[in-house]
Amino acid sequence: MRPAILNPLFAEARTLSGVGPKTEKLASKALGCEGRTLRVLDLAFHLPSGLIDRRYRPKLIAAEPGRVATVIVNVLDHRPAPRGRKLPYRVLCTDDTAALEVVFFTAHEDHIRNVLPPGSRRMLSGRIESFNDRLQMAHPDYIVAPEDAASIPEVEAVYRTTEALSARVLGKAVRNALERLPDMPEWQDAAYRTRHAWAGFAQALRTAHAPQSEGDLSLEAGPRQRLAYDELLANQLALALIRDTTRGRPGRSLKGDGHLWAKALAALPFALTEAQKTAIAEIQADMAAPSRMVRLLQGDVGSGKTVVAMAALLTAVEAGCQGAFMAPTEILSRQHLSSLEPMARAAGIRLALLTGRERGNPRAETLAALEAGDIDIFVGTHAIFSEDVHFHDLGLAVVDEQHRFGVHQRMQLQGKGERPADVLVMTATPIPRTLQLTAYGDMDVSKLTGKPPGRKPVETRVLPASRLDEVVAALKRALAKGARAYWVCPLVEESEKSDLAAAEERAAALRAEFGPKVGLVHGRMKGPDRDAAMAAFKSGETRILVATTVIEVGVDVPEASIMVVEHAERFGLAQLHQLRGRVGRGAARSTCLLVYQVPLGETARERLAALRATDDGFVIAEEDLRLRGPGELLGTKQSGLPEFRFADLSLHGEFLAAARDDAKLILSRDPGLKGPRGEALRILLYLFERDEAVRYLRTG
Ligand code: ADP
Ligand code: MG
Repeated sequence: MRPAILNPLFAEARTLSGVGPKTEKLASKALGCEGRTLRVLDLAFHLPSGLIDRRYRPKLIAAEPGRVATVIVNVLDHRPAPRGRKLPYRVLCTDDTAALEVVFFTAHEDHIRNVLPPGSRRMLSGRIESFNDRLQMAHPDYIVAPEDAASIPEVEAVYRTTEALSARVLGKAVRNALERLPDMPEWQDAAYRTRHAWAGFAQALRTAHAPQSEGDLSLEAGPRQRLAYDELLANQLALALIRDTTRGRPGRSLKGDGHLWAKALAALPFALTEAQKTAIAEIQADMAAPSRMVRLLQGDVGSGKTVVAMAALLTAVEAGCQGAFMAPTEILSRQHLSSLEPMARAAGIRLALLTGRERGNPRAETLAALEAGDIDIFVGTHAIFSEDVHFHDLGLAVVDEQHRFGVHQRMQLQGKGERPADVLVMTATPIPRTLQLTAYGDMDVSKLTGKPPGRKPVETRVLPASRLDEVVAALKRALAKGARAYWVCPLVEESEKSDLAAAEERAAALRAEFGPKVGLVHGRMKGPDRDAAMAAFKSGETRILVATTVIEVGVDVPEASIMVVEHAERFGLAQLHQLRGRVGRGAARSTCLLVYQVPLGETARERLAALRATDDGFVIAEEDLRLRGPGELLGTKQSGLPEFRFADLSLHGEFLAAARDDAKLILSRDPGLKGPRGEALRILLYLFERDEAVRYLRTG
């Protein structure tokens, strides 16, 4: 249950005065909260992006055109717009030093006469311009009688909004929301807070909404720092809670005798790299320990994680239980199945697949076999963790390409099974240490550095779209020599539909050139069609595979040696690195052609340059964080990485480390969050919607 003190913040925004259904809808859009009810909290957490300073109060003779000024004038005369002509309505004013025309392009005469009656004195605030040597103020933001001067704010916060919602209306809604802000008990460590001289949470939030200068808008400003720290503390505390409870639950010691793995290993056409051997040893030691394993396996694309996963899975089978291997897409789970199959056959164990596509009798039979323990390793999409799936005895769950799954799914998976299974999470892309902390907390990590031997570096070339003809010509030459190529189409405005249109168009254009050798695969295709397209490319029936980013993660066709990425400037660095990783897997020399559209922005230029400069995924991940900021990393929303409202990891990394240490200390002193500070910290978890973790407190 959410602490009652937070109820005013979690109330619907519609309960605020000035927020009707229309404003609610527009504000939802402006704040990126579409698709759910807008709450008071959403408005209160929407910090200003700018400010208007109205403290400039010159005499008119000295007023600098272009600045926002607040002036006191006498109203002289009205000059209505001449009939039928598109001229503004003008009101002549003066302050005895100079004249000022107040102009209105739209507005009713009655209204204007009402607010600016001739002969009155008025205080105006707005932008002063010089027009034909005359001072003008168009549509003043404020028009008040001098005795009401106080009703003009000296400095006004400006909120990011959309065209349809005026900043004024949004600002008012935010101010009303702030009035609902309760005073909450302090959850920060007293010494830490004193050291930073931070105000309490409510005060910090109010101050952040009332900037007095540009400096107050900076992420380094005290109030914003405090909010960022609180948010990171909530994140780290939640992860630490989940980790402590899952690790703390009596795990099991999974020890294998190595007989299955030895057979699988003997069937491999290559020797393991040192990095693979080390990772396998670390994982096996962790599995053998009586506590529960929750470990991250990080390795660059193509670094050979699948074999490591298989070693772990076979260890679980040797120990007498089952293993599960989960991938984010159907294509990938099928691919995993086929790469595991030779090893499984050599080891003499039983492998089965379950994706969303298996239905009816075959599905029922598979599930029955799984429950009876007749399946040793179960591969599939998240379908393998649906309600009706029961393992006989799940010992280890491997989750591949984790960043496509949310924390929620990860928890679901950990809850499966009578006794909690060990968990090995594999990331498709290395992620920077900071992000790793926010997404996984202090998880144990095994790293696969380097690549298996024999890999030839991929030649990366960057060229403008005006040279697309050359790309096609080069493709023609390469195809004549038997090459195979991917052609990835642009990501257009995050809309799958337009992605698709672009890919279809490109496929049609290439077919005109290359005939039926051109295949097409995209995210909207039905499973069997997609498999067929992939299979045709794999077998060499098609030689060019036009694709949207569905091929981004994990697809393995060693014969493919050319990767063309259109509109490369629209992809993130990590994404491009992933795409490039699709080639350079076989014997042939590989090329990656990054085709960009001019003009190329500064960041996009740096991104493409970074790709040319290095092939090391760990370096690229850090660079990506630096160039884009974590919010945008890995394709944001679907990334499964937490998003922050206040914290910016490229600036607040130091707070993240502090929050991690703080969370550890808190839980070592008060694991149930029962003391007074614990109570306050529970409020913090709910405030930042990390309450999933609170459930762990209760059940754990
Ligand atoms: P990823 O880490 O991207 O999942 P994979 O496990 O798919 O990488 O491995 C990429 C390719 O490298 C596969 O074709 C695999 O058979 C091969 N491979 C893995 N380990 C080695 C090794 N030690 N020596 C040579 N090739 C290897
Ligand atoms: Mg892989």
